[in-house]
Amino acid sequence: MKNNLLIIPCYNEEEVLLHTYEKIKDLYNELIAKKVLDPKSKICFVDDGSKDKTWEIIMNLSDQEPMVQGIKLSRNFGHQAALIAGLETKFGKFDTYISIDADLQDDITVIGKMISEAENGMSIVYGVRDERKSDSFFKRSTAKSFYNLMGFLGADTVYNHADFRLIDNNALRELLRFQERNLFLRGIVPMVGFNNSVVSYNRTKREYGTTKYPLKKMLAFAWEGITSLSFKPLHLILYIGIVMFAISCVILVWATVVLLMGRVIPGWFSVIFPSTFFGGIQMLSIGVIGEYIGKIYNEVKSRPRYIVEREL
Ligand code: UDP
Ligand code: MG
Repeated sequence: MKNNLLIIPCYNEEEVLLHTYEKIKDLYNELIAKKVLDPKSKICFVDDGSKDKTWEIIMNLSDQEPMVQGIKLSRNFGHQAALIAGLETKFGKFDTYISIDADLQDDITVIGKMISEAENGMSIVYGVRDERKSDSFFKRSTAKSFYNLMGFLGADTVYNHADFRLIDNNALRELLRFQERNLFLRGIVPMVGFNNSVVSYNRTKREYGTTKYPLKKMLAFAWEGITSLSFKPLHLILYIGIVMFAISCVILVWATVVLLMGRVIPGWFSVIFPSTFFGGIQMLSIGVIGEYIGKIYNEVKSRPRYIVEREL
């Protein structure tokens, strides 16, 4: 029997926490009764600098319920940092760790399956969404384009897997050696390797509260993923550069021929167009390189990825 820690990042989740806890408690009790789960299993809420009553609720729960643990980050560090904070703080204390969002849009009934998979020797078990009927059309299509773009740019991720996954203590030890600040867990977990498998489920609607991933955060997250996993944007710049150089050679030859034939070089278009065009391409390329330099800057500073203020 495995003892499992469920890690739940929470940012302004006061509306959902109690519902979430009740559902998980029922599931845990059921799994413990069925002897799938060790009774020493726990639930750890990581408060990612919430501005509402999230932390008060976590404190009350941990006072009353022996199953509940809590970690409070000193400010909002973001979803990924909250997850790694939970994993790193609790490393070595459990056999397996399962991360899941506070709104329980991911089907908790597959947790039993995940643990059975771990029992069968899987170190990592990915939760994969079968379909996303419950998400809005906008969310669905942006998420799909995101996976496609990531794939095109050479960043390998498990399709339709978010951060609902099981990882055992051995794989976690290795995951924690990935010391990047530009953290995109669903991209680096597959790099850890070990035996792994997939369980699929249907994702449901968020029942309480609202999404903590507005479009702006989603785009930032997508960019984080691409830049943390792939150098392809840099390669693309090289290809564009080569093509542009070839085109400019052709233009040069053409201009020379026109000149030798004694005709006048056509007017301002031939000057203005290339200069703005190439200028634009160059600015864009420098911008992309700048993005990477920004990331390197962040990495070399080695700032803490999160700061724990209190642990319950
Ligand atoms: N979250 C977090 N920090 C943040 C944003 C989100 O810890 O800065 C948590 C949030 O509380 C939730 C999970 O990350 O448990 C996923 O967020 P949400 O369900 O709002 O995202 P969506 O399902 O809409 O993509
Ligand atoms: Mg959600």
